[in-house]
Amino acid sequence: MKVIINLLLMLVVLTSCHAQKPISEVKKEQTTINNSNPKLVVGIVVDQMRYDYLTRFASKYGDGGFKRMINEGFNCKNNHFNYIPTYTGPGHASVFTGTTPKNHGIIGNNWYDKEIKDMVYCAGDDSVSSVGTQDDAGEMSPHRMKTTTFGDENRLFTQKQGKTIGISLKDRGAILPAGHSANAAYWFHGRDEGSWITSTFYMSELPKWVLDFNTSDAAESYLKVWDTFYDILTYTESDSDENEFEGGFRGKEKATFPYDLAKLKDENRGFDILKATPYGNSLTTDFAIAAIKGEQLGQDDITDVLTVSYSSTDYVGHNFGVSSKEIEDTYIRLDKDLERFLKFLDQQVGEGNYTVFLTADHGAVEVPSYLQSMKIPSGYLDNKETDARLIDYLSAKFNSSDFVENISNNQIFLNRRLIDSLGLHINDVQEAIVNELIAYKHIEKVFSAHTMTTTNFTTGMELLLQNGYNQKRSGDIILLSDPAYISYGKTGSTHGSGLNYDTHVPLLFFGKGINHGETYDKTVIPDIAPTISALLGISFPNASTGQPLGFVID
Ligand SMILES: [Zn+2]
Repeated sequence: MKVIINLLLMLVVLTSCHAQKPISEVKKEQTTINNSNPKLVVGIVVDQMRYDYLTRFASKYGDGGFKRMINEGFNCKNNHFNYIPTYTGPGHASVFTGTTPKNHGIIGNNWYDKEIKDMVYCAGDDSVSSVGTQDDAGEMSPHRMKTTTFGDENRLFTQKQGKTIGISLKDRGAILPAGHSANAAYWFHGRDEGSWITSTFYMSELPKWVLDFNTSDAAESYLKVWDTFYDILTYTESDSDENEFEGGFRGKEKATFPYDLAKLKDENRGFDILKATPYGNSLTTDFAIAAIKGEQLGQDDITDVLTVSYSSTDYVGHNFGVSSKEIEDTYIRLDKDLERFLKFLDQQVGEGNYTVFLTADHGAVEVPSYLQSMKIPSGYLDNKETDARLIDYLSAKFNSSDFVENISNNQIFLNRRLIDSLGLHINDVQEAIVNELIAYKHIEKVFSAHTMTTTNFTTGMELLLQNGYNQKRSGDIILLSDPAYISYGKTGSTHGSGLNYDTHVPLLFFGKGINHGETYDKTVIPDIAPTISALLGISFPNASTGQPLGFVID
């Protein structure tokens, strides 16, 4: 026996000498291959979470939520979106497909469809029906997303034995992450229903655990008074509660705490009011826990995938803005929900048996009127005036303005057939519009489709625009406005640009197979899906362009 062991040892030494690798590295490779995969991967997206929400509110966070992920897991501190536009639909698709709108095709939440000559919704699909409601809120599927998610690849790899389920208050936040071959995606139907629904794309009727959840008082129980979690006087990380930069709810004069949700609900679309409060995130956590139990996720050695997108952070940000007390309280409470969720995973799946990552679908700009009060360049764009001036110019120059079919998402779509019939060349019309628009106030850059398809950009906003440009779906002209200039109301925050406030978002990895550490090296959103694929040893999503982050994986 001893002889055999000695021989084996010699063999290992000889092999490693031959490969010129230290033995420790060889051993590591062997253990990596032999390691069993996590029983469950949970991909968490926090809608509109800026990176600095991790740091700004750090003194208010407990040890079991964000801080647990940071203290035990891996923190990518310089993680960015690498395309424009930074919206919810493209964000969720990019996190889970490992690529950008250029390839996955989700170029906006809504966009102008050149073929059918009408606006379409990223998750809209009228070929399927609602399940769980009578209205059309369930007519949804991922059919407009052209590529696979890592959940899809896990379904293929496990011969459909590993489940994938997507959950979010927003339909697109549930559907796009879960992918095409998902077992289910569930989203929240507000109004007077307050229930979780799906579409016939996934199933013909809701499973019993969903019906049970919907008939419980889960949603109803959150129609209560929303006051700050800690004494509001300790919320020194946000602006005064009463200021001119916040929207608020209908039926309440001031956007100040407390908010009596039961009282306000009738004037704010019933159960939909929960979406714009931290309780929407608590309800999402409740439902995610019910899904793990109901679907027995993470109970065997074949990896399941659960995607959870927390939408309330986005609604609160849009309503109250980046520096509001409401956003601070929403993150303090999300931290509690995260702690509760991780504790549940410890018990249900087992500590060390699951892997979680947490990121966002985009960041957000500080309210421009607030920035102006601090003399920081910022402002509001008057799209109507820009559009009218452009139409006047085209009428004078080409004797026709009819060839502007649509202006949306900072893009202009031209009627190419009409341009052709007038004896004009599309490139000439595009160039003329570029030269006209660049003279307009607060338009910083303008590019034509011709430039986008004939130039290979490698840096800057130009590269971000190109990563977001889909030749088949995007417009003829693409505009960029000045930093912190937005098309939005005077209260609340929004997003969509390629600037740091919109691109810089958290990326935390935690749990099985994850190293402890942090990096300031730049990582990009499309790196996430190939990293999870590498961890699982499965194929990368079919069009992924990101790099697996090797330093994250143990
Ligand atoms: Zn948003």
